[in-house]
Amino acid sequence: MIALEIFLLLLLTAASAAVWWFRDRLRREHAAHAGEIAAQRAQREAELAAQAERTAALFDRMVEGILVVGADGRIRLANRAAVAFFNVSPPAAGRTVLEATRHHEVAALVNRLEHEAEVLNHELRLDGVAETRYLQVNALALRTAAGERDGAIIVFHDLTRLRHLEAVRQEFVANVSHELRTPLSLIKSATETLIDGGKSDPVVTARFLDIIEKHANRLTLLIDDLLLLARLDSGRIEMKLQAVPLQDAAQDALDDAALMAASRHVKLDNQVPIELAAQADPTRLRQVLANLIDNAIKYGREGGRVVVGGRALGAQHVELTVRDDGPGIPPEAKARIFERFFRADKARSREQGGTGLGLAIVKNVVQAHGGDIRVESGPATGTEFFITLPAAANV
Ligand code: ADP
Repeated sequence: MIALEIFLLLLLTAASAAVWWFRDRLRREHAAHAGEIAAQRAQREAELAAQAERTAALFDRMVEGILVVGADGRIRLANRAAVAFFNVSPPAAGRTVLEATRHHEVAALVNRLEHEAEVLNHELRLDGVAETRYLQVNALALRTAAGERDGAIIVFHDLTRLRHLEAVRQEFVANVSHELRTPLSLIKSATETLIDGGKSDPVVTARFLDIIEKHANRLTLLIDDLLLLARLDSGRIEMKLQAVPLQDAAQDALDDAALMAASRHVKLDNQVPIELAAQADPTRLRQVLANLIDNAIKYGREGGRVVVGGRALGAQHVELTVRDDGPGIPPEAKARIFERFFRADKARSREQGGTGLGLAIVKNVVQAHGGDIRVESGPATGTEFFITLPAAANV
């Protein structure tokens, strides 16, 4: 009997040990499994975070502005360009489109996507303090797989530069037409006067033929300048670069201007150091110097002085200067002096036969050499143009 009890006790102990062992194993397996799941989840989350970061970085690098809006109408993502366009104070995420952009037109666009699948090529004008921006907006409604509305994506493309170029082009065409029409109408009316009987009087004939010749020359100059500018713009101009001794180049240009200088009693002075040399196209450089010297004589002081100077700027560059002691360029005109057809004094320029393209050509030619040009001017000091050019490797 006792033996049976002992046997049963042993059996019970063995059974409970087996149960405990089995439970323990189950618990361990479960724990191992849970750990694995947690590790997997952490890895997945890290992957998603990295992916979101990559996407955000990619969006931020885009020149287009992007807004992603959730189904609740609140911004989920605004890239750097969008933030800059609308000057959004951070954080953009979580705010409504109207709150972030402060632009009813953009908010209205998002609202339109309640009923429309997309809004394409909408033009938006943003009047800023410093400038007006023009944006092209494309907006697309987002849907879930089940077809439910799930917010929108709005893309802003900056058209400001394009608009500006278009305005410049239109202004240029208007200016060219005006510049061509003026001498043409003078030629036409002089010709009509001659046809209408003026030619019977030799004095009248000589005077009107003079007018015709003067304005035909002006037209030729204008067309030459326009063609040169077009070639410079398109990069179709070939630069025959070589080491150019600058004192000689300045002297050639000054010699060419001697007659004109004499007519205004202007003294010409070459102060370019003998050793100075630029890597330049000699013909084009002569044209640059001729333009600046002509202007200095034309707009400088009658009986004044025009000085061409120069110096080395380190080992890589040289600087050439053309200085006069004239009345200077008005401060409000200084910033525009290199624009096509811009003249500080229109009447004076026309009377001197200027096309208004000289400085634009000078700037283009200097830049085609890899150089730059600037001007300093004041009523007391006169005007001085500074040209930087690459130094010649050796002369
Ligand atoms: P333009 O054919 O009228 O001379 P430019 O492009 O050469 O055209 O010059 C543009 C304008 O810049 C001139 O009309 C003139 O008003 C001004 N300007 C150029 N050089 C000088 C100067 N040395 N002093 C004063 N004004 C100048």
